[in-house]
Amino acid sequence: MLLIEHGEEPGRKILISGGGRCNFTNIHTAPDRFLSANPHFAKSALSRYTTADFLALIESHGIAWHEKTLGQLFCDGSARQIVAMLMAECAQGGVQVACGEAIREVTYGKGRFTIRTDRQTVEAPALVVATGGPSIPKLGASGFAYDLARQFGLKVVEPRPALVPLTLSGEDLLFRELTGVATDVVARCGKAAFEEAALFTHRGLSGPAILQVSSYWRRGEVVAIDFLPRAEAGWLLRAKQEGPRATMRSVLRSALPDRLADALDERLALGGPLANLTDARLREAEAQLADWHFRPNGSEGFAKAEVTVGGVSTAELSSKTMEARRVPGLYVIGEAVDVTGWLGGYNFQWAWASAWAAAQAV
Ligand SMILES: Cc1cc2nc3c(=O)[nH]c(=O)nc-3n(C[C@H](O)[C@H](O)[C@H](O)COP(=O)(O)OP(=O)(O)OC[C@H]3O[C@@H](n4cnc5c(N)ncnc54)[C@H](O)[C@@H]3O)c2cc1C
Repeated sequence: MLLIEHGEEPGRKILISGGGRCNFTNIHTAPDRFLSANPHFAKSALSRYTTADFLALIESHGIAWHEKTLGQLFCDGSARQIVAMLMAECAQGGVQVACGEAIREVTYGKGRFTIRTDRQTVEAPALVVATGGPSIPKLGASGFAYDLARQFGLKVVEPRPALVPLTLSGEDLLFRELTGVATDVVARCGKAAFEEAALFTHRGLSGPAILQVSSYWRRGEVVAIDFLPRAEAGWLLRAKQEGPRATMRSVLRSALPDRLADALDERLALGGPLANLTDARLREAEAQLADWHFRPNGSEGFAKAEVTVGGVSTAELSSKTMEARRVPGLYVIGEAVDVTGWLGGYNFQWAWASAWAAAQAV
């Protein structure tokens, strides 16, 4: 078996993932945490190679780990341990590794693939495409899998940047002045909702809650933010009863970072003491704070996206083996496939599980 990698070293996304500690899986892995044109596709592979299976593997290599938050599991030490483990497994399986080799051409005939790189030409009865998606090209990411899929007549679901910061313009520009401010919110886009931190940046919105909804967001859609997800219904009316002289700004400042409170107060434009505001107006303000609409004008694109939504259509592949139905011997796994996980270790779990499914068949 031969592994061809055009970068100088394998697993560069693993090395930078999770702030260098690799969030390698999530204990809450379940098919509903993945986006795909066919939401059922991932079920088979995910159920046959689970979080527990990957944990058993890393423990057998003596890699210590911990849960950080929301079921996200990280190495105690370094992401390098995960790459070293995978390379040790390759060595044990007799896999030859060819790094720094660009693939020039792939052809197929009489049940065999011929792969011509800039150094060698090899023939094989099976070809597993594990070249990921185009997110972060400076790490070697490419659209190679899609080009190859199209060459073999397989459909590709339009790739879009996902887990990516969103950019703001127009009326929302005021919020770009809040660069560096973070707060816990519920971010919503369509039916998707995530309670995590949001971060204002010089270009717009980021932070885990925003990255999560970005995977669901499409141009023109609204992202709604609940700035006070833990506040009980009627909290503004109670604030008025308890402190009639308090102002909207002071009330907001007691619950949110000052700069954010001031920006929201400016937009609400409800000056003076709360006692002077009608209950109806306060209810309206409360509803607005719980469902604040941003209309992003775009995202920071593939250059900043952690993953890609879309990819080789699952309709072309066997969910059991990842083999292309129309091209026996051709397998597609990992991010190259139209299966994309939430933030939090789900994308690696999909990479491991789909690889395992293919490995049983190759
Ligand atoms: C900054 C960042 C942080 C992330 N953090 C996490 C995290 O903590 N947890 C998580 O679950 N997911 C995380 N992800 C997502 C995760 O890295 C990917 O989903 C995962 O690496 C996909 O695995 P893959 O094997 O399919 O593709 P990749 O890991 O992208 O591997 C594809 C490999 O193919 C090589 N390649 C590409 N084109 C060619 C070609 N033409 N010829 C030869 N080789 C080629 C690439 O150089 C690369 O090494 C992160 C992503 C980024 C960008």
